[in-house]
Amino acid sequence: MVLFSGGQDSAVCLAWALQRYRMVETIGFDYGQRHRVELQCRLRILSGLRDHFPWAAGLGEDHVIDLTVLGQISATSLTRDIAIEMAEGGLPNSFVPGRNLLFLTLAAALAYRRGITTLIGGMCETDYSGYPDCRNETIQALASAVSLGMDRKYAFLTPLMYLDKAATWRLGEELGGPAFTELVREHSHSCYMGVREQRFIWGYGCGECPACQLRARGYEAWRRQ
Ligand code: ZN
Repeated sequence: MVLFSGGQDSAVCLAWALQRYRMVETIGFDYGQRHRVELQCRLRILSGLRDHFPWAAGLGEDHVIDLTVLGQISATSLTRDIAIEMAEGGLPNSFVPGRNLLFLTLAAALAYRRGITTLIGGMCETDYSGYPDCRNETIQALASAVSLGMDRKYAFLTPLMYLDKAATWRLGEELGGPAFTELVREHSHSCYMGVREQRFIWGYGCGECPACQLRARGYEAWRRQ
């Protein structure tokens, strides 16, 4: 089961999973994110994969979980109309406390019912803006807790953990060729502001928020290599 938000990272993770596993289900979360447009983007990527990529034949059911309670209890720049800036403790206020912990725990609960024990996510330490729930140590500790708490051995895989954004673009191209890169550029969504009016060489976004800048810099670095 792939945690698939509709962003660049999780799109590449999904391709990675589809080329390794016979059946792959996807899960996404509606948590009141400002960039809710990603929920539509993820559907376009799923149908693009189904229609144009033979290696995506194992794409199974997609699940979208209502997690709007997370938006209600967190006052962050990803869930409220406030500016993105550094907050106390050196973390940007785009950090949504508990987000990845809840995503993985809920995905594991759904996976339990469906007989799935491998969860795959695009968490990454390299470009993680200091988000502590993207650290490998956090993810693996949670895998242990969930395995104990559900009495079933889960594996949480994070193929992008030590890649930077340029390497993620490259991995996508290696997995799916230029056609997959084009699908990611056109339909994956990274912009924190939820803006998709302007098309840049790396895709749609505002071009200015940290997520757009990371995506743009990674794309340009990959193209220069
Ligand atoms: Zn942006």
